[in-house]
Order: sequence, then C-alpha cells, then structure tokens
Amino acid sequence: MPMYDFECEECGVNFEQLVRRESDIPMVTCPACSSARVAKAISLPAAPVNSAMAMPMGGGGCGVGPRCGKPWCQRTG
Ligand SMILES: [Zn+2]
Repeated sequence: MPMYDFECEECGVNFEQLVRRESDIPMVTCPACSSARVAKAISLPAAPVNSAMAMPMGGGGCGVGPRCGKPWCQRTG
C-alpha cells in the first residue's frame, strides 16, 4: 500500500497518507483543516539499490552458473 505525500492548498500543511488505490486520492482530506483541496506532492520512488547487481556481466556474458553452450563460452563445467 503506497504512502503519498500531500500538501493542503488551504492551510499549506504537508502530510502523508496511505492510499489503497489511485482512485482514492481525490478523497484524501487535510488532517489539519479537513479541506479536500489537497495536492499530491511529487515523491520519487525509491531507487533500486541493486540495479547494478541485476546485470553483473554487463549483458551477454556467461561465466556464472553452468556452461551456457554458446560457442564463445569459456566455461568447461
Ligand atoms: Zn489544511
């Protein structure tokens, strides 16, 4: 369940709100003044810290795991 940052356009308070669905966002109200005029703040999703580890060989290289069978495969096991 994603947590969104909101900013109230009435009193300017910033708050976080759990939103089950995107369609529930218009129903979010300000916790301070109960105004429905809240704007969803832009919050970047957390960067995947393991993106560099997803393709350790830079793409296309074997060398991990069993012999891949390609003509250029250096693995003998
Ligand atoms: Zn408010």
